[in-house]
Amino acid sequence: MRAVPASWFLFPPHLEGLDRFEPGKPIGEVQRELGLAEVVKLASNENPIGPSPKAVEAARAALDGVNRYPDPQATALREKLAAHLEVPASHVIVGNGSVEIIDLIVRTFLGVGDNAVISEHAFVRFRQTVDARNRGARIVPMKGWTHDLETMAGAVDGRTRLVFVANPNNPTGTWNRRAEVESLVGSLPPGVLLVLDQAYFEYADDPDYGDGIDLVRRGAPVIVTRTFSKVYGLGGLRAGYAVAAPEVLEAVLVIREAFGTSSIAQAGAAAALDDVEHVRRSVEMNRAERARVSRELTTRGFTVLPSLGNFVALDTGGEGRAVFRRLIARGVIVRPLDPYAMRSWLRVSIGTPEENTAFLTALDAVLPRTRS
Ligand code: PMP
Repeated sequence: MRAVPASWFLFPPHLEGLDRFEPGKPIGEVQRELGLAEVVKLASNENPIGPSPKAVEAARAALDGVNRYPDPQATALREKLAAHLEVPASHVIVGNGSVEIIDLIVRTFLGVGDNAVISEHAFVRFRQTVDARNRGARIVPMKGWTHDLETMAGAVDGRTRLVFVANPNNPTGTWNRRAEVESLVGSLPPGVLLVLDQAYFEYADDPDYGDGIDLVRRGAPVIVTRTFSKVYGLGGLRAGYAVAAPEVLEAVLVIREAFGTSSIAQAGAAAALDDVEHVRRSVEMNRAERARVSRELTTRGFTVLPSLGNFVALDTGGEGRAVFRRLIARGVIVRPLDPYAMRSWLRVSIGTPEENTAFLTALDAVLPRTRS
């Protein structure tokens, strides 16, 4: 058999120079590399309590039927979501995590020469997905580490099809108030869709933070994306959803692979939605620990951004990636933020009280600071 010539594998020129998503380092990898038994992962904004036992049970039960393809409509899950969100089921779509839905939105609505308005330091997958599609990312600077919605509205032109807002934003944790989001939506010309990413919605406990779905209910050109990966503790299952007008979702369904999520993910997600107590416990622990970690870091003299998510961003004052490496050597995985053009920053997910204490102890060892 003749070998395939190397020239067949040339990197496609339209993807030249684009970066790929760098996920949090897996626990097993760090254990293997460093021979550590105990590793604390605070790198992917996961739920440290774990999944709801009810979700695990439902996912396990669904395994018995995996000889059959999943329900392509994900009817049971969508109906449950629709009841939960008080919208018709026709307004809901599910996908393999909300990043799949973001990818679908980009492929559905961005054609050659179109652009998408995205904030600097916003969830990096927006820019990556758009640039991989057509290099159409139009980046607008932040104001005070927050999406500057007024300037973003001003950046919309005749070729803009999408505006992305992560609220609260990852990795900054910062958020935009309901009134600001509404005025952005009000300023959008016809044919422009706001993608409102609310992956951390359930953790957002500020009274001025808006629901987003009420905008969809009022017929605004908005698609809200949410996920089962965060508060519901199902990151490994890959289940996310979006809420928008059926006309918007119909277009997305033309692009989507017929089955979307697996039957296991559909069953697990539906059961997780019912476990209100698990969500409540998770939110409560996050609220208390987010306040404690922020306070402890501030006391040590670090700049910490206010956060409505299950993570906080802190400025190390030096090379964030170097501190990240030194923390890994002590068995604590956090996230360096150089891919977000925040070279001196780290993002740390809020873990259990014990995990957070382990992080603070490791940080004290690798980066001693005088307490102010
Ligand atoms: N949006 C934001 C802002 C996120 O931080 C994340 C997860 N890191 C996602 C979307 C994607 O989550 P998933 O695909 O697991 O639903």
